[in-house]
Amino acid sequence: LNRRLTEFGTTIFAEMSALAVRTGSINLGQGFPDTDGPEEIREAAVRALRAGHGNQYPPGPGVPELRTAVTEHQRRHYGLEYDPDTEVLVTTGATEAVAASLLALLEPGDEVIALEPYYDSYAACIAMAGGTRVPVTLRPDDGAYRLDLDELRAAVTPRTRLILLNTPHNPTGTVLTRDELAAVATLACERDLLVVTDEVYEHLVFEGEHIPLASFPGMRERTVTVSSAGKTFSLTGWKIGWITASPELVTAVRSAKQFLTYVSGGPFQYAVADALRLPDSYFDALREDLRAKRDLLSAGLTEAGFEVYEPAGTYFVTTDIRPLGETDGFAFCRALPERCGVVAVPNAVFYDHREQGAPFVRFAFCKRTDVLTEAVSRLKGLR
Ligand code: PMP
Ligand code: GLN
Repeated sequence: LNRRLTEFGTTIFAEMSALAVRTGSINLGQGFPDTDGPEEIREAAVRALRAGHGNQYPPGPGVPELRTAVTEHQRRHYGLEYDPDTEVLVTTGATEAVAASLLALLEPGDEVIALEPYYDSYAACIAMAGGTRVPVTLRPDDGAYRLDLDELRAAVTPRTRLILLNTPHNPTGTVLTRDELAAVATLACERDLLVVTDEVYEHLVFEGEHIPLASFPGMRERTVTVSSAGKTFSLTGWKIGWITASPELVTAVRSAKQFLTYVSGGPFQYAVADALRLPDSYFDALREDLRAKRDLLSAGLTEAGFEVYEPAGTYFVTTDIRPLGETDGFAFCRALPERCGVVAVPNAVFYDHREQGAPFVRFAFCKRTDVLTEAVSRLKGLR
């Protein structure tokens, strides 16, 4: 393994899911739903397979049906206009979208500002692209994690090329506000920066609203917006994602994507096009279901003695374990399966400044209600 990658080891998600299987624990670690997405959408994939739609290499930019559906989705939910032929690229999940964007847009030595704690693939992809990551730490304050705009501004140097944003934010559940996003936009315009914004949790917002960064003045032409079907349609194994951006940026990202995967899963693309056109009632029901689960798990964790940072979005809740007399989230998560049969993820893995994340632990609530209830009852036995 080369020096760019040795520091990253095995992802925490693989480690913790393996631990859950080995110990027969309830897995609230890795974020994936335990109920598959809509049957009609799974049937649409079967129909596409049977009809021979996408069984051979689909077009590099993605099938036209999906590219059109992505542009309809951006118009319907946000009033953003994109050209399906030149301003959309289908990718193998948001993971490839982020990787291809960084590989395409960074020169070796370019600095990338990312919100810490960050999703674990960001650091590895910045490293693979030869970039230097510059974390700006979201700090817990009065029950929520917030972005310090002065720290963000101070992090920009002449070598900064790009801001890698994520809202709603994994793992903290923070949804950046209109004012915060406006400040990011102003900074990007003033300092002539690109922004790659990971909005995979765009439909999982319980408080406030999701506002795409690309909708701010001056941002459309400098923003690569990333999303995917995994979270919105509870189909994380399908690995269909996309970007929307200017023709220049889409062309650049496609240059990298063509040598990573060339194209992405054909039949699934047709089914995801149908999914994006589901009525508003689908998106509302998804959000309300997860809101109830967030409330259930947050209340249960509080009763079990954790300090809870109730998330405004995503399907993760971050907790502080110090009220339980614990200080090391790593040790706590490694011992938790033996102690009570539950798996969680230590937030420290999402930090460069590991000490900042040490006493924090993330639980996923995208699970069946009976599973969450059982997990809570087990966790209450900790004290
Ligand atoms: N970005 C964030 C913030 C995530 O939490 C995840 C995890 N699903 C991804 C990207 C990866 O998305 P995908 O499965 O579509 O590659
Ligand atoms: N996004 C999910 C999480 O944060 C899982 C991603 C993964 O397994 N790579 O838990």
